[in-house]
Amino acid sequence: MPATRVLVLNSGSSSVKYQLLDMAGPTRLAMGLVERIGEAGARLVHSPTGGERRERQQPIADHEAALRAVEEELAADGMGLDSPELAAVGHRVVHGGQRFSAPTVVDEEVLAEIERLVPVAPLHNPANLTGIRTARSLNPDLPQVAVFDTAFHTTMPEHAARYAIDVETADAHRVRRYGFHGTSHAYVSRRTAELLDRDPADTNIIVLHLGNGASASAVRGGRCVDTSMGLTPLEGLVMGTRSGDVDPAVVFHLSRVAGMSVDDIDTLLNKRSGLLGLCGDNDMREIVRRREEGDERATLAFDVYVHRLKKYIGAYSAVLGRVDAVAFTAGVGENSAPVRQAAVEGLEELGLALDTQLNTVRGDTPRLISPEYARVAVAVVPTDEELEIAAQAYSLVSR
Ligand code: AMP
Repeated sequence: MPATRVLVLNSGSSSVKYQLLDMAGPTRLAMGLVERIGEAGARLVHSPTGGERRERQQPIADHEAALRAVEEELAADGMGLDSPELAAVGHRVVHGGQRFSAPTVVDEEVLAEIERLVPVAPLHNPANLTGIRTARSLNPDLPQVAVFDTAFHTTMPEHAARYAIDVETADAHRVRRYGFHGTSHAYVSRRTAELLDRDPADTNIIVLHLGNGASASAVRGGRCVDTSMGLTPLEGLVMGTRSGDVDPAVVFHLSRVAGMSVDDIDTLLNKRSGLLGLCGDNDMREIVRRREEGDERATLAFDVYVHRLKKYIGAYSAVLGRVDAVAFTAGVGENSAPVRQAAVEGLEELGLALDTQLNTVRGDTPRLISPEYARVAVAVVPTDEELEIAAQAYSLVSR
């Protein structure tokens, strides 16, 4: 029997999400989540496709214990890490620096390089590393493939990747713009070209990945030429709890005037800002509901969010010169008709327009929401990062 299955692991700071996919379909065989790792109330939810959802509440001390519990659930369905159908484990790795521009089979040297990148991704890379090491210990013969969030953005030209700061200092500390959500931007830009029935190599697309984290990218001919996240996922759009772009002097100001430490300001900008900081909610559903009731702070949060989005659509229209499509994706992008409508409103001079009727139709497949006459197609394209990670990992090990 050919090995066509890939287990995708997304190890976050206190959670592990996983999916088992059969690339012969592709079909999803199982998915699940371990959350609150190392905290009270840890639990695992396992959902085999076509089978009964199972939930366990038990102490789960660390990522190693989490993966062992996942392995037990998969093995109970005959789909454990030692099953011969499994071709690889695909790991989401957040930071691949400048070096990793493609999925990579993990060996000691690759692990060491991911480790060297911990200072630029202190929240994410350590969890990703633990995930890889544990999966490897469960089946040392199975290829472990790292798929990097930054990889799609390594094609950015130097003038887009550089901050205008002293070159020696920047290079000594790897300070440059890397970008994130790359797997999603790659997948969605490709699917958008397919939706338009165009060759990706001849299509220019702005992708707006609007989830709890949010980022925009400018994609020319299938290659990223600019993206809104930078050294870390803090730069760019307004997000659920992250500020996105601020004047860096805000940091000095808060340090000098408010006596806040660097760690305090880090927490402020990453965890207590964005939509949450503006109005106390980070869920766009709730914000839209409050705004409809006339709530002023929710309205302000919505307006700040949309204003920033519009600025990036304008900026990336200028970067690309010619735009064929704008694609909305992720939790907010796929589901919030009011955000899409407000973001596109007033951009007719840039060639954008919405069919308000189409915009409100819900669905889980890629679709156009612009009228036929519009010069720039506007699309809703559901992202599928797990499928993209599995596809990239599988293409590497099945050669
Ligand atoms: P993601 O990070 O892609 O899972 O997106 C999560 C975010 O999507 C949540 O925080 C919500 O703000 C948002 N979201 C999910 N469903 C909806 C919806 N129906 N309308 C507006 N926002 C939504």
